[in-house]
Amino acid sequence: MINASTGLISLIGHPVEHSLSPQMHNYIYNHMGLNYVYMAFDVQPVDVGESIKGFKALKVKGFNVTVPHKEAVMPFLDHIDPMAELVGAVNTVVSRDGMLIGYNTDGVGFMRSLEYRGVDVKNKKALILGAGGACKAVAAALAMRGVQRITIANRTLQKAEAVAASINHHIAAIAYAISLDDIMQLERPDILVNTTPLGMWPYTDGCPIPDGYDLSGIELVYDLIYNPEQTLLMKKAVDSGCQAMNGLDMLIWQAIEAIRIWFDVDVPYGLAMQALKRGE
Ligand code: NAP
Repeated sequence: MINASTGLISLIGHPVEHSLSPQMHNYIYNHMGLNYVYMAFDVQPVDVGESIKGFKALKVKGFNVTVPHKEAVMPFLDHIDPMAELVGAVNTVVSRDGMLIGYNTDGVGFMRSLEYRGVDVKNKKALILGAGGACKAVAAALAMRGVQRITIANRTLQKAEAVAASINHHIAAIAYAISLDDIMQLERPDILVNTTPLGMWPYTDGCPIPDGYDLSGIELVYDLIYNPEQTLLMKKAVDSGCQAMNGLDMLIWQAIEAIRIWFDVDVPYGLAMQALKRGE
């Protein structure tokens, strides 16, 4: 029950009404006895700084940040975690002793989702489609976990080159960049990760791979999209005999990681999954 001690956790983005986070978080807080509410705020880009000042004044415990504010919030924070610095984007902020600290949970969420499914990426060859914020986090997580090679294929080649250079500079010299148009010529990877929005609702006919691209022999096709639960890419992967995953587990593990950052408690995976499916 909400009372005078109830604390606030929030989400800022634009738009936010599609977000699954309020239902997930509020369900988890209720079931874990955390006296907090999670509320989503649609914040215009011009108001990002003022909203963060407001959170600070109200001593809000923490907040999530979604598109398009993940980079814009960074100058307003007191400290940025090294992973968020590497990715160049913040999606989770905690207030500690009056200081706002920014994290990026994409990479942790991605790796935990693989660990939970028992997928070992060590010495594997990975192909990542897309070169935005999610790609940077996925590439950094894969590099830290010992993949042999990462190829980043993007519509805008320069962006793929920039991500590859950043990985090679910060972690290991294993990343390469190609144009998305050239993936037919590439040696077949062990793991293919889609970090483009191609195939996401409402454009569910979209697919990041060209017609005729042979997926057979790829161990895992991981699509970060979670709406729809099975994208066209995933359907093609299943039809070719590959294991396919959507972005739901990554979303769940990110919520678990954010709650660990804010409250230092571990949420059971089963509870977070229940929160996502049922909500309140
Ligand atoms: P982003 O920073 O905007 O990057 C999007 C990337 O996709 C860019 O490289 C862009 O290419 C490429 N792209 C966009 N439209 C394209 C098109 N029509 N054809 C070819 N390439 C296209 O976005 P993001 O934050 O990385 O997120 C990407 C996706 O991952 C979204 O669908 C998001 O919902 C999903 N995601 C899921 C989770 C999860 O927890 N499951 C977490 C994070 C993100 P250019 O560089 O050429 O523009």
